[in-house]
Amino acid sequence: MLCAVVFFGVVVATADTIVLKNGRRIVANNVREEGDKVKYETSAGELSLPKSIVDHIEKGGSVPMGDSPAAAAANLAITPPAMGAISGGAEIESGAVRDGAIDREYIAKLEAAAHAGDQRANAGAALAHHAAAQFELSRGDMERALADERTALTFSPEEPALLMNVAYLHLRRSEYKQSLDCLERARRVAPENADVAKLAGWAYYGMNKMDQAVAEWKRALALRPDPEVQTALDKAQRDKQEEESYKENESSHFTLRYTGSAEPALARDVLHTLEAHYSAIESELNFAPPDSIGVVLYTQEAFADITRAPGWVGALNDGRIRVPVQGLSGVTPELSRVLKHELTHSFVGQKTRGHAPTWIQEGLAQWMEGKRSGDNAVVLAQVFQEGHAASLGQLEGSWLGLQSDAAGYAYAWALANIEYIVQTDGMGDMERILDRIGSGSSTEAALREVLHSDYNDLMQSTAEYLRKTYGH
Ligand SMILES: [Zn+2]
Repeated sequence: MLCAVVFFGVVVATADTIVLKNGRRIVANNVREEGDKVKYETSAGELSLPKSIVDHIEKGGSVPMGDSPAAAAANLAITPPAMGAISGGAEIESGAVRDGAIDREYIAKLEAAAHAGDQRANAGAALAHHAAAQFELSRGDMERALADERTALTFSPEEPALLMNVAYLHLRRSEYKQSLDCLERARRVAPENADVAKLAGWAYYGMNKMDQAVAEWKRALALRPDPEVQTALDKAQRDKQEEESYKENESSHFTLRYTGSAEPALARDVLHTLEAHYSAIESELNFAPPDSIGVVLYTQEAFADITRAPGWVGALNDGRIRVPVQGLSGVTPELSRVLKHELTHSFVGQKTRGHAPTWIQEGLAQWMEGKRSGDNAVVLAQVFQEGHAASLGQLEGSWLGLQSDAAGYAYAWALANIEYIVQTDGMGDMERILDRIGSGSSTEAALREVLHSDYNDLMQSTAEYLRKTYGH
């Protein structure tokens, strides 16, 4: 799942949300439909999903989406602050709003009195506009409510309750900065007011400033017990914990460790990249690994010393993804490819319960990272024609004993065979082959059932594909 992305900041209103049939939500930019694919942009580049697994797309509007704090903030159950009683207040309120409508004529009379210079009339005009605003709020007309509440404020600019009501309406409109401006003014007049702290906590929460939100809500509770604040505070503290665990290198699908010291920014970047790749591979293979995936970054110790892998191995996956990242402070395109390659191994490993042959593992991992056969095609076709091609049966077991040039050939040949299958029959066939291997078939039996070919047929077809596609 890509949901970890939301921890990297408040999801902005311009993003769209792709909702998959399995309920998963992917927040992305520039979501569009092209043929049978849904394409979208992420920090890791453009990705696509088969339309068949997409339920619907929610286009970005003015309201933040997903599980972001901003979305949660917009839905906080917090009631507007109460207006203190003023003498004659009830009469003014029932004059301003009567028979289910606002009496603008009545309000205009109060305004006229206020403009004539009567101090008490100012309070009356303010209260009348406030009553109108409350009525509009009750009907969900946030814009008119805000206009009336702001007008009320012009008659009583220092009234904390009006400042807080304007702040409240901004909060309901997810306008956190404007809300805080009003609350600062209210705090100058009423520093010990619990509602000011309550609403300020909401504003910070919406801005994803969890420390400040927690501080304000604790302050509000110290001034006055309030179940709404308690609920909001509990939620903020849970969010804060989640965010901290992310900084400690965990995301939805990964646990990250590193030897030596790594830049925290690199660790976050790596997790972010892995989550994006996870999402892409998940939709290609139509499968999500049930187990969390361990990742180890090697920053100082020589990678080869610890992993005992031959020199030609750059990174490896022995159940955990192990990647040397010496000297890097962020994810380069090369590192991103390596991560996607190794992550593919985790998917294939879990999908086949560890029974995938090495040529499928390495062929598919290279395909997913974006490698194609172009450069090697002519040589591979020639080796096959001369009868020297390694049989896929020989490439089923471990390659760690191979010399570097033999390994290079094995990788290229594995990629060519996978490329032929995917280009000819689509990833769906690959997926079915993996499923059969996972339920106990031998690889060749799985090929026979899905592709109706054995190893020899497949290699023959692959050599022909290479000649046709890349030959001169
Ligand atoms: Zn590999």
